[in-house]
Amino acid sequence: MIAIEGVVKRFGANTVLDGVDLRIAPGEVVSILGASGSGKSTLIRCINGLEPLDGGAIAVDGNRVDDAKQLQRARRCCGTVFQLFNLYPHMTALQNITLAPIEVLKTPRRQAEEEARQLLASVGLLDRADAWPAQLSGGQRQRVGICRALAMKPRYLLLDEVTSALDPEMTAEVLNILAKLAASGTTMLFVTHEIAFARQISNRIVFLDQGRLLADLPTAQFFAAEGGFAQPRIAQFLS
Ligand code: ADP
Ligand code: MG
Repeated sequence: MIAIEGVVKRFGANTVLDGVDLRIAPGEVVSILGASGSGKSTLIRCINGLEPLDGGAIAVDGNRVDDAKQLQRARRCCGTVFQLFNLYPHMTALQNITLAPIEVLKTPRRQAEEEARQLLASVGLLDRADAWPAQLSGGQRQRVGICRALAMKPRYLLLDEVTSALDPEMTAEVLNILAKLAASGTTMLFVTHEIAFARQISNRIVFLDQGRLLADLPTAQFFAAEGGFAQPRIAQFLS
């Protein structure tokens, strides 16, 4: 599991995460909601060991992210897709997907390419395998980004507002893929503004407000009048 305990993160005088406790068990789909600036991306970056913690601890399957050796193992467990399309522009879709399996997992090239084609087929992009990122639409790039993360066979998929730079049609393309992944048992930590979609696919909803977890509830309870809506900040956000 991903175990986040009492995590504090500051940028100068700004306390961005203020004692966050959160556990994500295998098979769960957990969505993180919260206003812009509430600390969602920082939390994802902390799980990846991209930001040093000022307090508390994060461990992924027992590997602590504040220990350089263990961090490598923790990172292997997590596939991350960010908001911006961070594909390597000088590599084709297929090359973007096969790079890490070949370099890091030492998967033979043929096998890596075969697996990449299967992934591309699963997101409806087999015919774009040899396209350059610049030749792809935003939605197509994000779908390739998801394939690139999945190619490492991560135990956990971390998604940080992967649709927020997309128009509605492309958003739907990407959400479709994520719904399929959720239904197939992929463990996901999903930062999103797509509240209706989060409600549809999540086991649990977590609400961050100014670096504090205001709620961590089963989805139905979060959207119930006596659940999340009982908290003024959450009710305000949801309305
Ligand atoms: P969210 O993803 O919920 O919109 P972020 O995690 O990006 O929020 O940011 C939370 C807060 O941390 C914001 O006030 C933001 O300005 C601040 N912040 C994020 N990254 C940095 C950084 N590298 N340096 C300084 N402040 C940062
Ligand atoms: Mg963010």
